[in-house]
Amino acid sequence: MAKDHDRLDKLHRRFEVKPGTKVKLKNFDPGWAGGDELPKKVARTVADAELTDDVSDLAKAQELLYADRSRALLVIFQALDAAGKDGTIKHVMTGLNPQGVSVSSFKVPSVEEISHTFLWRYTQHLPERGMIGIFNRSYYEEVLVVRVHPEYLAPQKLPAKKFDDTFWRERYEDINAYERHLVRNGTEIVKFFLHISKEEQKKRFLERIDTPEKNWKFSAADLKERKLWDDYERAFEDALTATSTKEASWHIIPADNKWMMRALVASILAAKIQSLKLKHPELPKDEKAKLAAAKEELLREK
Ligand code: AMP
Ligand code: MG
Repeated sequence: MAKDHDRLDKLHRRFEVKPGTKVKLKNFDPGWAGGDELPKKVARTVADAELTDDVSDLAKAQELLYADRSRALLVIFQALDAAGKDGTIKHVMTGLNPQGVSVSSFKVPSVEEISHTFLWRYTQHLPERGMIGIFNRSYYEEVLVVRVHPEYLAPQKLPAKKFDDTFWRERYEDINAYERHLVRNGTEIVKFFLHISKEEQKKRFLERIDTPEKNWKFSAADLKERKLWDDYERAFEDALTATSTKEASWHIIPADNKWMMRALVASILAAKIQSLKLKHPELPKDEKAKLAAAKEELLREK
């Protein structure tokens, strides 16, 4: 399907945190479903069709990334519980060549991991050139869950004596410098915050409790974290404000409608790879001559 690039660009920019702007999450509607122009049902049909389309665009774009081998793509997903990280990753991955993509999910760090500086464990999972690396949670946990629970810093045995605003500002600076380093060296970065509302999270938690097949997805700890909703919002607002840079900006994706979230993510990713203007590598002349010779030899075979 031919795409209206200006329209898409405008749509994508609507969810991008412009570097230098202060994020207030209340200005972003988690339930956004296409705006007033479209009734929700129509918006859903359009989004579903575009998802199919974008997943196929993404697959083509990935093939180029893989063949070209000059760039890597790091895709970061951050969200509160039940926002749909896993489902979105699953949907976006359909159609991708599994050889060209890796997914890393980060849980509570191990003793070995926590004994290194805070970017160490993530560095080991970065995608190599040609690959898409998806981070299901990331080093941003170090300024999100860890900011909400500063007691998690104790085992890091840091030289800092106080965990005040300066401490967190320095972590943001380190992250920005790290991402700048990655981009300068050919790793493109796309960052998604899947933005769910408190009401929708409650609905999904209840569904997880009421549906036996979904019970495994719920843990009592999720409810404890829900009680810290405002603290998490503040940590997200600060982090999104401080780390949306021209090299690696954030997208705040409305997550209450899964179909909208998935369509937006796939579309933004496909556009990102296409913007790199990669080309299938062309063989040098002598290599082409070797191909021609090989063809002749094959055709001569009896
Ligand atoms: P889930 O993704 O639901 O399986 O949960 C993973 C858990 O690991 C979440 O509660 C995260 O907050 C936690 N987690 C991930 N990274 C870190 C980190 N760097 N420090 C502390 N907790 C973390
Ligand atoms: Mg969880």
